[in-house]
Amino acid sequence: MDSSIARFAITQSINHDEIVTIDYDATAAIDLSVASEGSVDVTQTHGVTEYWGTDEGGHNWRVHMRCQEEEADPDTVACECGQATGVACEWTGPINETVIVEWMPEYLRASHEAAGGGGGVWPHDGSLRLRVERSCADRLASDDQDEE
Ligand SMILES: [Zn+2]
Repeated sequence: MDSSIARFAITQSINHDEIVTIDYDATAAIDLSVASEGSVDVTQTHGVTEYWGTDEGGHNWRVHMRCQEEEADPDTVACECGQATGVACEWTGPINETVIVEWMPEYLRASHEAAGGGGGVWPHDGSLRLRVERSCADRLASDDQDEE
């Protein structure tokens, strides 16, 4: 393991008796899982993978490595079109590639039409405001047209 990032983090953890958090590094990931002899929590709670172990001298160490995918970026958002289509959407990306759409659930449309008789006012009660990727927004809009 030599003078790797993993060795440095483990030494730091033992010397300071603390959890050391490092950025994602593929080599360090391998070194840490070897050093921990399998003591790895890969559930990535809080965006980190947790490794822990004991060195030759019996000192406990614990290292958190941030996940490869940056979750902390506030400009990265997930598409919410699944709330309208019922099909989970995998899209995530920069916020400037998304638009806010207003979506009226199917069952509410029917009842509004029945009650209002098409007064020309789009009802806002119960409609969802969804942040969706542009092409998803187009698809939602064309779904609307198909029904009318
Ligand atoms: Zn989508």
